[in-house]
Amino acid sequence: MRKFVLAAAAAAAVAFGGMAAMAAETTAASGLEMANRVSVFPAGEENPYGKYFTGQSYLQMLVTDAIPIGNVTFEPGCRNNWHIHHNSTQILLVTGGRGYYQEWGKAPQELHPGDVVEVPPETKHWHGAAPDSWFSHLSVEVAGEGASNEWCEPVSDEEYSQVQ
Ligand code: MN
Repeated sequence: MRKFVLAAAAAAAVAFGGMAAMAAETTAASGLEMANRVSVFPAGEENPYGKYFTGQSYLQMLVTDAIPIGNVTFEPGCRNNWHIHHNSTQILLVTGGRGYYQEWGKAPQELHPGDVVEVPPETKHWHGAAPDSWFSHLSVEVAGEGASNEWCEPVSDEEYSQVQ
């Protein structure tokens, strides 16, 4: 019975969009367990591209053929480095929590579930979680011939302090 009540409480927290409340719970549950509550898609495992991120992220590839689609989950405060998708358009479909997208020289854009971001090729940018919220998006890669990713410098704490 107690088990059922705890599960129901966890489900209710997600149902009410309590991603900020979840941030506080992170110490109580493992990161991966928390990551799996952010989105209806599986969080996968610790992101193998983690060296290009500040903080912990998780990756599950959902489609690996013609058009690669991955589910990326960020713990609170986690973001990827500034980067450029050469000869590839990246589409972000936001599925959980609260986060940000920023293009070089522009203001950060706050993101919520249902938001769609089209990242044009050759555009320096980053994406990641808000400081107090888990965040997840699907990443769809529409890659042209010879597409590649160029990873640049981390988003500094000073740059990241612009987001709330
Ligand atoms: Mn990107």
